[in-house]
Amino acid sequence: MLCPVCHKAQASEKVEKIVDGRFIEGHVCRDCYIKALSMDKREYYYMFVTLPDKACPVCGRTFGEFSESLLLGCPHCYKTFEQELLPLVDSIQAK
Ligand SMILES: [Zn+2]
Ligand SMILES: [Zn+2]
Repeated sequence: MLCPVCHKAQASEKVEKIVDGRFIEGHVCRDCYIKALSMDKREYYYMFVTLPDKACPVCGRTFGEFSESLLLGCPHCYKTFEQELLPLVDSIQAK
């Protein structure tokens, strides 16, 4: 998997942080990992909450998993993936 932040290197590092009570994790390359360590929580939040592999803070399901199975793990997933779901729902309804 390519680093979703810089799109230049393999995402080999896992970063995890709790920001405002939400557990946020992502996979990034070594350079971005080092950057993430020195980020304040707001920067971190924007960096990882906008990633395609963002995860539901309640059940931990990632958007990648969801898009493969099209099953939500819990009611909170809908809220978590709301923005990503909208175009998906449109394309499902269009069929
Ligand atoms: Zn990177
Ligand atoms: Zn969930």
